[in-house]
Amino acid sequence: MTEILSDIEIAKQVEPKPVTEIADELGIPASDLSLYGNYKAKIEVDPKTFKKNEEGKLILVTAITPTAAGEGKTTTSVGLADALSHIGKKAVVAVREPSLGPVFGVKGGATGGGHAQVIPMEDINLHFTGDFHAIGAANNLLAAMIDNHIHQGNELHIDPRNITWKRVVDMNDRQLREIVDGLGKHANGFARQDGYDIVVASEVMAALCLANDISDLKEKIGNIIIGYNYDGEPVTARDLKAAGAMTALLKDAIKPNLVQTLEHTPAFIHGGPFANIAHGCNSILATKLALKYGDYAITEGGFGADLGAEKFLDIKCREADIKPSAVVLVATVRALKLHGGVAKNDLNTENVQAVKDGLPNLLRHIDNIKNVYGLPVVVAINKFPTDTEAELEAVDQAVKEYDVDVVLSDVWANGGAGGVDLANKVVELAEQPNDFKYAYELEDSIEEKLNKIVQNIYRGDKAVLTKAAKKQMKKIEDIGLGHLPICMAKTQYSFSDDKNLLSAPTGFNVKVRELKVSAGAGFIVALTGDVMTMPGLPKVPAAEKIDIDADGNITGLF
Ligand code: ADP
Ligand code: MG
Repeated sequence: MTEILSDIEIAKQVEPKPVTEIADELGIPASDLSLYGNYKAKIEVDPKTFKKNEEGKLILVTAITPTAAGEGKTTTSVGLADALSHIGKKAVVAVREPSLGPVFGVKGGATGGGHAQVIPMEDINLHFTGDFHAIGAANNLLAAMIDNHIHQGNELHIDPRNITWKRVVDMNDRQLREIVDGLGKHANGFARQDGYDIVVASEVMAALCLANDISDLKEKIGNIIIGYNYDGEPVTARDLKAAGAMTALLKDAIKPNLVQTLEHTPAFIHGGPFANIAHGCNSILATKLALKYGDYAITEGGFGADLGAEKFLDIKCREADIKPSAVVLVATVRALKLHGGVAKNDLNTENVQAVKDGLPNLLRHIDNIKNVYGLPVVVAINKFPTDTEAELEAVDQAVKEYDVDVVLSDVWANGGAGGVDLANKVVELAEQPNDFKYAYELEDSIEEKLNKIVQNIYRGDKAVLTKAAKKQMKKIEDIGLGHLPICMAKTQYSFSDDKNLLSAPTGFNVKVRELKVSAGAGFIVALTGDVMTMPGLPKVPAAEKIDIDADGNITGLF
């Protein structure tokens, strides 16, 4: 039996090409590169040069309702890009940047896995080109200007008990969730209850990822609502005259980062908004650059397709005015068995009946992409060594009835060569005309939008708003923001808002307990259940295993 290498050990075996070479092969002029060492570069963007959507093929990678381990969307995205390169296509992958919180928290990579990774993975996982720090600084500048404004006389009459803007740090640090600050003498500011979020939960992150250029970013940042005045009216970053300086801090962070995969396919890694209170995909600019320079741009939406694909399509594609040519729906036999009722510890044992029982989950996601959004879809089974022939056959049979193909993807074990069948299928699907449509229209009322998502995507009965949420809905409509798209914050483990309802539940309502407007990012967040915006570290943090030797070699990163 061959030894199974860790992700970082596999990554270390590959000598990256200089990023100048990667850029050159892609056709990026040398004058558009800002180098960060030999293997990373920021790329200049000139939105006027972006292609029309029809010219490049945008491929969305999404997944069935996942297990806690993740079903391999990033791995499949990276491997698919390598496989497309392998069959002679000009492919570029665009995915999110990792956050330090999860890197040091629970073991699990954000740069793909096995033989389908982006490199240099230790750099990408640790600081990278500093984007998240810049975003944190911009966020915290606004926080400092809010409290200073109050301290200096509070001309805007900001109600200190109604400030919704929080400070951020890129770390899982539960100690900072709820704090009291401004303690001490008069000169130390105004004492108030406060709290930190993780950087990826900052609205600045979401705004940067949804910005179409730097002026658009400044406009979005100006629109950020930091809280309310004593009359209950919103106060914005623009009112505080903070938008210019915040955007200046982001002048480099807004530029997409170019790196490469293990097989030297170009990769744009840029932005990383939360997938619950935000939309969970890499920046619009990175996706557009991938479309500009590649014939195939492969990108990912966080969580399962009910959340990730829904937000990608209804929020990001709408804002960017782009649309996918094909969708890859990643599934694992393990996750299907979980939906079929098998306990987490027994997922490695053959159980064809459980696979069959879990298939309704996959079929509902297929139906949504095909029939709600009108997009061509292929199912990619991300292969694990424990999958059996009989289990795979069961998936094949069921999906065929939907006139959809199932392709086995072995990119984790074999890199691009393991994804050739998938690549060929994607090329074929992307040639088909599609009649893409959104799941709801912006003109729909907030309640209509919520119901369309719940009924058409989740297949529940309706969205039920708490009294508080109804009040907030009225307020959002009153301040003229009812036309924004909806960003659902819901458990990723079920179509419903109850993480225990696996497979394809029906007959449920989705309870919306809070509606919060992110006027800067440009969406209305519908909170169902509890959402953690500042995670904590587990009992044994991944940080305990990470090390660096005298020569600067890092070990233990997954
Ligand atoms: P997602 O993007 O869906 O969250 P990832 O691609 O990040 O999932 O994969 C989650 C984890 O599973 C990673 O640690 C990755 O290395 C591992 N993984 C992915 N595919 C496979 C596979 N086929 N076999 C074994 N491990 C895998
Ligand atoms: Mg991922």
